Amino acid sequence: MSKSVKVACPQCQKKAAWDSKNPYRPFCSERCKLIDLGAWASESYQIPSSPSEEEYGEYSTGLDANEKPFTPTMH
Ligand SMILES: [Zn+2]
Repeated sequence: MSKSVKVACPQCQKKAAWDSKNPYRPFCSERCKLIDLGAWASESYQIPSSPSEEEYGEYSTGLDANEKPFTPTMH
């Protein structure tokens, strides 16, 4: 008495089996799951458009400038 539950894949609307043997549920396949993940991932990746390498360089110089005012205190 094993009744398999079917759900509509959110990606392609295909009926997919909802059971523990389907690691991609509620999607019908890995492909649809990746498409869905990629859809929101690419959307959120577009928000931070500034290059992180430039930010890192600014950070290291900022730390250097922060350390400098500490040394010439005995003047
Ligand atoms: Zn699908």
